[in-house]
Amino acid sequence: MAGVIQQGPRARGPLVVQTQTPVVVTIDGPAGTGKSSVARALAERLGLDFLDTGAMYRAAALVSIERNIDFRREPDRLVREVIAADVRFDWSRKPPHVLIWGRSVSDRIRSDDVERIVSPVSSIPDLREHMVEKQREIGRQHKRLVTEGRDQGSVVFPTAAVKFYLDARPEVRAARRAAQLRELGENVLDREILAEILSRDSSDSSRRMGPLVRPADSEVVDTSDLSFDAVVDLLEDKVRARVAAL
Ligand code: C5P
Repeated sequence: MAGVIQQGPRARGPLVVQTQTPVVVTIDGPAGTGKSSVARALAERLGLDFLDTGAMYRAAALVSIERNIDFRREPDRLVREVIAADVRFDWSRKPPHVLIWGRSVSDRIRSDDVERIVSPVSSIPDLREHMVEKQREIGRQHKRLVTEGRDQGSVVFPTAAVKFYLDARPEVRAARRAAQLRELGENVLDREILAEILSRDSSDSSRRMGPLVRPADSEVVDTSDLSFDAVVDLLEDKVRARVAAL
């Protein structure tokens, strides 16, 4: 499965549900499983909004870089600055752009300096509390939503209509991530990316608050040997079937 988004071949129109019925689809899983691209394509196919919660934590990491805050020594200061930066989305863009202090940082948050610190930044309990509240507020405003991250099905939207957990073998995830970075012009080695991914997995899975876990009521999909379209087709079928039974 390529890490890059490609439009699927099927076109069955938006999901038809009663006007008042909220439909939240959560997609959690470790880095490099294709979550973001899959979630975005799935939302597009079903006519739902798309929420990238990793972008919010990346934006918080960027606040720490831009304000020159040593988040390990001064976590409270970082949380105050992140609150002041008002991390939010410009929903008029597709996919929505993430903003800090009203400025789009959607491209900037993908760089290596952000990537290196985002996991420890996202482990700060007060920061998570703030983000979880923001994500629930987004859920109240966007009642038809595909949301992806690490704790969406377990913590943020425990009553979501459909929950997925995407996984893939670590070496496959590293190869996908390396390909993405090479497309951005970065010169990277697969084995270094593999080490980074394993370290991020371990930090994401072992933190006290909102660790990466597989919700008991989630559908697990191993994307290692599936094409991008096959993954989106699979998820689309499952959501349509589940929603028809609501
Ligand atoms: O999904 P993405 O790689 O953009 O996420 C970046 C980082 O943000 C993750 O490695 C994780 O540390 C953090 N994150 C999180 N909870 C989420 C989404 C992302 O802790 N719901």
